[in-house]
Amino acid sequence: MNIQEFQPIVAIATTPTAVKLLQPICQTLGATLYIPESCQKTTNPATKTQIYTDSLKNHLPNIWQNHRAIIFCLATGAVVRLISPLLQDKTCDPAVVVMDEAGKFVISLCSGHQGGADKLTNLLAHLLNATPIITGASHHLQLPGVDILGKPFGWQRGEGNWNQVSGAVARGETVQVIQEVGATLWQHHLPETHPFYFGFPETNEKIAPKARIWISFTQRQFSPESDLPKVQWHPRVLWVGVGCERGVSKKLIATGIEQVFRANHLALGAIAGIATIDIKADEVGLVELCQEKNLPLRTFPAELLSCVEVPTPSNIVATEVGTPSVAEAAAKIAAIHHEKAPTFPFYKGGTRGDITKSKQQNIDPNFQDKFTESSANSSPLKQAEIRKDNPATSSSLSKGGMRGDKNLLVKKQIFRLEGESGAATLAVALAETEYTGRTGKLLLVGTGPGKLEQMTPAAQTAVSQADVVIGYSLYIDLIQQLLNPGQIVEKLPITQEKQRAERAIELAKFGLTVAVVSSGDCGIYGMAGLVLEQLRAQCWDGKIPMVEVFPGVSAFQAAASRVGAPLMHDFCAISLSDLLTPWQVIEKRLTAVAMADFVVALYNPKSQSRTEQLVKAVKIFLEYRQPETPVAIVRSVYRENEEILLTTLDKLLEVSVDMLTVILIGNESTGIYQDWMITPRGYLGFD
Ligand code: SAH
Repeated sequence: MNIQEFQPIVAIATTPTAVKLLQPICQTLGATLYIPESCQKTTNPATKTQIYTDSLKNHLPNIWQNHRAIIFCLATGAVVRLISPLLQDKTCDPAVVVMDEAGKFVISLCSGHQGGADKLTNLLAHLLNATPIITGASHHLQLPGVDILGKPFGWQRGEGNWNQVSGAVARGETVQVIQEVGATLWQHHLPETHPFYFGFPETNEKIAPKARIWISFTQRQFSPESDLPKVQWHPRVLWVGVGCERGVSKKLIATGIEQVFRANHLALGAIAGIATIDIKADEVGLVELCQEKNLPLRTFPAELLSCVEVPTPSNIVATEVGTPSVAEAAAKIAAIHHEKAPTFPFYKGGTRGDITKSKQQNIDPNFQDKFTESSANSSPLKQAEIRKDNPATSSSLSKGGMRGDKNLLVKKQIFRLEGESGAATLAVALAETEYTGRTGKLLLVGTGPGKLEQMTPAAQTAVSQADVVIGYSLYIDLIQQLLNPGQIVEKLPITQEKQRAERAIELAKFGLTVAVVSSGDCGIYGMAGLVLEQLRAQCWDGKIPMVEVFPGVSAFQAAASRVGAPLMHDFCAISLSDLLTPWQVIEKRLTAVAMADFVVALYNPKSQSRTEQLVKAVKIFLEYRQPETPVAIVRSVYRENEEILLTTLDKLLEVSVDMLTVILIGNESTGIYQDWMITPRGYLGFD
């Protein structure tokens, strides 16, 4: 599988031992292996390999430029010397990870946060069963890095003193977070002790923050005199409505947007996209601007635009294009026409920390650091407006709907450029939910029976790269080691499968990569089918969110492996749970397979309230099979309290069985030899 976040990824080996170690990793990660000519013979054709002829030093600049992550299997000192002339800035340098030839240690050397080296290191360490060495402070504190906090939500990093704010977090100093817009999910998945203070202290509260994080659409200019380090993240919540004459240049529109944003103290990074009338879908300047800035262009028909109440309608525009407003109406619709933001879940439990120690913020009009430190008063955005329309504190937009001007931040403005004849009109609307700009993914992951080593590398990778991990709490606990700081982990009780699937789909539609975990194989009495069924019920187009299914070792395979080879001939699985399947159907299938001499794995054999089904199943089998047919009763296979018992069909009911047990019933040829259960395939006859 490919880990998108790190692609293209490269691994560098200089010795045959290193080649041996890196090859399987390259195959799992979809990485290219770089090797010197001398190692050529040791590679296998399944690995994407590149051979370099002279020194690694000469090749590295090229590799450095063209890859987002580099794994070295080399002495750390050598790596430091090799990369030092190439290092520029943590915002653009690739992730650099170093490991030793014995595969004992994996070191996150450079670009731990923004480059993702910490995450990659963790993943490699799990795949190799090695020790991850991650020295960044936030990792050890189990906190998301301040400089990657908004990455899953597509937020843009604004100006600020990132190093100093990260330093304050590392020192455990109180860091004030003022989040005016954007997803607040991250706040609910912090460790119990975290340094963040959300919102504004009461006057009688003695809180003295040592740093501040703003999460807003405002472009704040931080005063150089202030010794409180500050940073700003910009969730993409602003939709720019554009109306223009045919043929206006990209430059005119871009200049207009810059001017409007500057005049209103809006952050360009907070732009979600551009909205206009459908007849402008091919307007060259607009299309070029969207391509250059990687912005979506949303277009709406005149009939829809004309339904929107706007402050500045125009009769001339109405006569020309059939709607009295393009810019204002399109901005408003784009801002409302959005998936609803996933909020903190409805159920209790499952958080890795909470924010009860601090309050959700209310924007305090008297707070000195409002929306710009330097020129708050010159902004046409009234502070009161911000307070009222702040999606973090109210849902005025959804209530306001398309009526009223509540979500319109900037009314229509007309722009011209000297030397150019055309004009463009611009308006800006505020969306309740940010546009993440990401295609959501649903990774349906089978975690295997229990122990991590029984989970496939692809499944491990899927869990560790996901933004969100959702599953039944017991299964999440079993894979705890794979989780990374900053990941949103939502545990749900065993009975809430439907809610789990709905929640996963909701988050994926928002743009997040969501791993839904099931024990064993996720497509065998697991979550995969439920998620796909629910997507189908929602008329899913088969593409967005993207779905990938990761198989796992199912209970019947795991149990079989512990008792020998009982599944060597035709077999099937039957669940005895009649919660979702009528008992008549189960009975019919039991009879059919008993009669047809299949080896059978019985899932969900018995629960506290459901005890009769197993009795009936045994009765059916005894009608068609010998009483001494071998049976394996396997409980919590590959988990701490594993119990394995070999018995016979007539004694099956004497053994205690529960919901953590899977039962394997042999066919007429299955036998027990030296405590091994063997179903002959026929090579040596069937005796
Ligand atoms: N998706 C899972 C099955 C889920 S249904 C898989 O592929 O294994 C739940 C049932 O699976 C349990 O009632 C039990 O019968 C069986 N099961 C799951 N994990 C098990 C384990 N570690 N040991 C024994 N049985 C297990």
